[in-house]
Amino acid sequence: MTVKERIKKDPDGLLAKAYRFSENAHRGQKRKTGEPYFVHVLATAEILYEWQLDESTVIAGLLHDTLEDTHVTSKDLLTEFGEEITFLVNGVTKLGKIKYRGTDAEAKAENLRKMILAISEDLRVVFIKLADRLHNMRTLGALPPAKQKRIALETHEIYAPLAYRMGMQSISGELQDLSFPYLYPQEYRWLKEKMTEEYEDRLKYLDRLKPLVESSLREKGITKTQIDFRAKRYSSLYKKLLRNQMDLGKIYDLVAMRIILETVEDCYSALGTIHSLWPPLPGKIKDYIAMPKPNGYKSLHTTVIGPNQRIVEFQIRTVEMHKENEHGIAAHWIYKSHGKESVDTKKKIFEEAQWVKQLAKWQTTKNNGETSAEDFIESLKIDFFKDRIFTITPRGEVIDLPAGSTPVDFAYHVHTEIGDTAVGAKANNQLVPLSHELHSGDFVEILTQKNKKPSEDWLTFVKTSIARDRIRHALKRKTNALLNKQPIRSELKIVASDRMGLIKDITLIISRSHVNVLNLATTNIGEKFHTLRVSCDIVEKEKIEKLILKLKELKDIKEISYRLLESQIS
Ligand code: MN
Repeated sequence: MTVKERIKKDPDGLLAKAYRFSENAHRGQKRKTGEPYFVHVLATAEILYEWQLDESTVIAGLLHDTLEDTHVTSKDLLTEFGEEITFLVNGVTKLGKIKYRGTDAEAKAENLRKMILAISEDLRVVFIKLADRLHNMRTLGALPPAKQKRIALETHEIYAPLAYRMGMQSISGELQDLSFPYLYPQEYRWLKEKMTEEYEDRLKYLDRLKPLVESSLREKGITKTQIDFRAKRYSSLYKKLLRNQMDLGKIYDLVAMRIILETVEDCYSALGTIHSLWPPLPGKIKDYIAMPKPNGYKSLHTTVIGPNQRIVEFQIRTVEMHKENEHGIAAHWIYKSHGKESVDTKKKIFEEAQWVKQLAKWQTTKNNGETSAEDFIESLKIDFFKDRIFTITPRGEVIDLPAGSTPVDFAYHVHTEIGDTAVGAKANNQLVPLSHELHSGDFVEILTQKNKKPSEDWLTFVKTSIARDRIRHALKRKTNALLNKQPIRSELKIVASDRMGLIKDITLIISRSHVNVLNLATTNIGEKFHTLRVSCDIVEKEKIEKLILKLKELKDIKEISYRLLESQIS
């Protein structure tokens, strides 16, 4: 069934409502292919439906671009579709804002993949994003070349590996294959040319083996068999060719025969049958049933020398394994109802799922801790990343920080200068205090002011040692400046006729201006003109000049000048 067929069956359901809502919202919008935009969101929902995800996810797939591209608001979605669906759509919208720039090293790509998981909070958000990406990749041809390349690279480095981690082997493979021609156009053309003939040839050969395999299995009592041929993907074939001097003859698994059976016993029994027909190549028997791949992949693989000395690869697995291999985590995500029962069933499935352990291990390598799968199942949310947050700069770069970090930590991780001159911050376009606690997925912008210096109380709330060290460093510089370089007092030189009460008049004016006299000395006593040197605790030019103007109003003042002094001792 498809989404469209389901809607026909239940025209008043929530799915039908979402269909109409989205079609309306996107009305008039066109894709680069010329089709109505709604085609894209429907295709995304169809993919999610094909993966057998729950209805909320499929609905969120239909709505996934409404917040970004139409007048629809989060509030509208909440009223029409409730909290769960709104949460999912918001999540996908957030993910869409992260732009990956390909100059990053592999470590950064890894970070980004973790961040996608962390800020999604719910794995269903990642499924929607992957379905969205899959459809965009299938229709990438319509975009301008520069954009094609950027999106293909992002798919190759971020989304395909992410899908692989989640055990979604076939989705990951398709994403890699779709990006391959855009990233390596020449290699792709070469491969396609060479492959076509080779592929046809091997297919014909395998077709002749098929009845032989089937009848031998029947003799063993295995009747429910499903056999197909699986051509190696261009993207992985190319990788393998690079390791094999570009020699297609060395690639045995160019086309593999895939045997899908009912039970695990059948699988082992079929392995024996095949080995009794043709001798296996030593070292080529792989038991991924007993020892699944880290991403949860399960199957038996063997390579044998077939008729005419040709080499053939077999993959043997159960129906269930096959489904899991293709869809990974998504294969576990089938909800029938929202009752307690379904949660328990799901718990059980999750506990057994290899990928949960793998995903948990993946993220805890840093803290060497054991994250129990139960914690994860408990919430059905991604909270592996409790102790790290992933924040985003205005340029779309990811800053990885410990949980509880503040805009000041963020600023110092972007650049020392930005930290030193920070005066304010915005998180997701909202002004926040510098001591604000940031969260995963926050878009953070730091407001700076030239010549600003860090404040000492930042030390009371920063979380990272980098920030702490740099604040201390800057504060030290500030103190040094005060002690050594910057003026700390001024000295006025007043030339006046000597008269009674002159000094009193001068000090009165100074104190009325709220300036403290640090020292006062007179010279040339007994001569016609007196020279007074008054040192004050002001260093601002403007204040000093104001004071001088007032002093000049006094009788008998001839001349006033000043200089700034850097130390206490004159
Ligand atoms: Mn989309």
